[in-house]
Amino acid sequence: SQDPRIATISSAIRVIPDFPKPGIMFQDITTLLLDPKAFKDTIDLFVERYRDQNISVVAGVEARGFIFGPPIALAIGAKFVPMRKPKKLPGPVISEEYSLEYGTDKIEMHVGAVQAGERALIIDDLIATGGTLSAAIRLLERVEVQVVECACVVELPELKGRERLGDKALFVLVNGS
Ligand code: AMP
Repeated sequence: SQDPRIATISSAIRVIPDFPKPGIMFQDITTLLLDPKAFKDTIDLFVERYRDQNISVVAGVEARGFIFGPPIALAIGAKFVPMRKPKKLPGPVISEEYSLEYGTDKIEMHVGAVQAGERALIIDDLIATGGTLSAAIRLLERVEVQVVECACVVELPELKGRERLGDKALFVLVNGS
């Protein structure tokens, strides 16, 4: 018996085939944002799960982790830390590379944004291959932050991103394909 809010959230996400390139089924969460009830249900489901877990850091991955992360952070009384694409953050950063189908990419975090021993939740809209989230985990663990869990609105289970996270827990609301 699944939470009745999940079906509404799932149907509010639009799937656009062949974007940004042939063969990709793009999971477009902008239509979820247009539905205030479904958007609120999404935030509430995360807040209900994380409110009593002593989490002091919500780390959001650019770009769509910047949409879902801040309302969760405010509701659970945690700070919000942006994990950005290279060369966007103005202060000193630490960075982590991850591999893509062709080549590599990087995410960065400000030095001093988090302290050793803090408990963090990592948020993104979607997990595909898991490369992005695994880099976010490494970045936080390098500075001795404890990653409690990663959370996404959508998982594409066929891409087995969950396996790339090793033993790190992953919580998702809906599956896409
Ligand atoms: P990955 O690192 O392979 O897990 O890819 C996850 C990142 O790429 C997330 O930040 C997603 O926003 C984006 N992404 C990958 N595949 C899709 C997809 N099919 N639809 C929407 N976003 C995607």
